[in-house]
Amino acid sequence: MKLCVFGNPIQQSRSPDIHHHFAQLCGLNVSYEKCLAPLDAFESTVRQFIASGGKGGNVTVPFKEEALALCSHLSDRARAAGAVNTLSFINGEIHGDNTDGIGLVSDLLGKGVKLENSRILLIGAGGAARGVVLPILAQQPESITIINRTVAKAQGLVAQFNDTRLVADGLDISETQPFDIVINATSASLTDTAVELPEGIIANHTICYDMVYGSDKTAFMQYCEQKGACQTFDGLGMLVGQAAESFNIWTGCMPDVQATLICVRNMLAK
Ligand code: NDP
Repeated sequence: MKLCVFGNPIQQSRSPDIHHHFAQLCGLNVSYEKCLAPLDAFESTVRQFIASGGKGGNVTVPFKEEALALCSHLSDRARAAGAVNTLSFINGEIHGDNTDGIGLVSDLLGKGVKLENSRILLIGAGGAARGVVLPILAQQPESITIINRTVAKAQGLVAQFNDTRLVADGLDISETQPFDIVINATSASLTDTAVELPEGIIANHTICYDMVYGSDKTAFMQYCEQKGACQTFDGLGMLVGQAAESFNIWTGCMPDVQATLICVRNMLAK
């Protein structure tokens, strides 16, 4: 099966390693390549890939919204996220899904993090934050407070879902009670910056999760540890989790996420 990941830049992507490992685990013959799409030619790049026999593709920055517009069929979660990270090419039609949210939720649940009845703080209101709101709500949290540097974007996100468990605020959040779970969905860690939070938001029972990952602890993870968080995680498990869901959509085989996670973590450490 011929698959790829579309993005720009794409050099840094770990997706081929992850999907080739999945293919090995499932005993399938898969070719998964990196596909650099010019910024003004995403659609033609996708169509060329289909013409060359491509059966599916992941989509990464900055094309997830464009990918949504290209699809003739959309899953509910892709529609709710307003973004597509998984394309399937079936009988001349393009189907779109978004597996980012389920990737995060399955990683958290797999780590023993309880989402049900939890008070959750989600920092950021970009594409990644949008994609995780619906899958987290499905786990029946007590509340999700969404805070963002640009408050209007957090307010817009909350308005989109019409759910009383959602609250919007700025980074100077007025809430003073500590949260059970804090999820960083901003790209601040990519520039080694931690989003700083008012005192009292993180307590010694708080679990903190940064969607960014790397060979070392991210700036946000280090900041949360200093504030007394009981556990911190990076987003590598989310990356492998979302990839596994995409792989399952294309091949019907759900690979062993933990086995691949260990392998990719070792690659990052080198
Ligand atoms: P977007 O560009 O759509 O959104 C970026 C968000 O980060 C916005 O909310 C923006 O705020 C905020 N932000 C950026 N810089 C700062 C800063 N210095 N201080 C405070 N807030 C800041 O990106 P995505 O939502 O697509 O991705 C966000 C992060 O999640 C990325 O780092 C990405 O790598 C990661 N990610 C990880 C995945 C995984 O599988 N592990 C999957 C998807 C994403 P504002 O609106 O004010 O600009």
